[in-house]
Amino acid sequence: MQTEAMVMRRTGEADVLERATIELPDPGPREVRIRVHAVALNHIDIWARRGLPHVRYDFPHRLGADIAGEVDALGPGARGVAVGDAVVVNPGVSCGACEQCLSGKDTFCRSYRILGENTQGGYSRHIVVPDANVLPKPKNLSFTDAAAVPLCFLTAWNMLVNKAELRAGQTILVQAAGSGVSSAAIQIGKMLGARVLTTTSTDEKAARARALGADEVINYTTQDFVAECKRLTNKRGVDVVIEHVGGDVFTKSILAAAWGGRVVTCGATTGFSPTVDLRHVFFRQVEVLGSTMGSKGDLFTILRFVAEGKLRPVVDRVMPIWEAAEAHRLLEARKAFGKVVLSVD
Ligand code: ZN
Repeated sequence: MQTEAMVMRRTGEADVLERATIELPDPGPREVRIRVHAVALNHIDIWARRGLPHVRYDFPHRLGADIAGEVDALGPGARGVAVGDAVVVNPGVSCGACEQCLSGKDTFCRSYRILGENTQGGYSRHIVVPDANVLPKPKNLSFTDAAAVPLCFLTAWNMLVNKAELRAGQTILVQAAGSGVSSAAIQIGKMLGARVLTTTSTDEKAARARALGADEVINYTTQDFVAECKRLTNKRGVDVVIEHVGGDVFTKSILAAAWGGRVVTCGATTGFSPTVDLRHVFFRQVEVLGSTMGSKGDLFTILRFVAEGKLRPVVDRVMPIWEAAEAHRLLEARKAFGKVVLSVD
């Protein structure tokens, strides 16, 4: 079938995104075609648009990992869904048959891919995905809110629950409250009984972080977050740091952690090569943990909490998909608190 999409024919700045008519293959065995109603932006969209060295692009390429829509057609043998179902799409695609996949560690699958990064994504009126990636949309959410859930909540859940093994009563520091992952991590931390400290740059963003449940908000433009973490924990430091900023923020996050604390990193928007004094790691026995995405199974758990209203997506604004270039510029300028979502008419 033919459908309309925002495509890129080369990597580069936001203006490489253009509206185009594309030819979409019919869904194959155990695949599902979705009429996309909303697709949320993630930093991975920015990286993939600028060009990732490990990705072999199949131009025209479509970005977009976080998708909500309606099932439009089923391929042969597709299970678990019917035409017309309202769904959200798990952004991680894996083989489903290897030892890692069957152990719930699908992010370690040799064929693990993220929609819109190393496979065609959801910046389109239609997309074809494996049936295993389709989950029912929580009824209490609009399509635009539902699209804002999967990637950031999966990432934050994996960091706090599986990597940091957060326990009730512990204190966490969530870097840069306004990001999608951080707005999810603040809520998950509170839900699990932690005390949540977070950093941000303006009074307005601080108020929004408090509304999400943050106990203490540190303004990193006027305060030293390491000193504040020490002050707020009787000099002990925090049990867990949720980090995705990189650069000096990563270096200082190790100092903000308590002895034996965990620093979990899932990204580096400001710099990939921070300087680390290893004495601060080994002598203080700080654990540095890498994390990326999360398992398909965990998204079922997350969506249950979302359906119960215990976790909620944070949407900064909704824009028409045809304004994707402008939406990218907003994200790059760090103007948003929470997710920027593209609606697909
Ligand atoms: Zn696998």
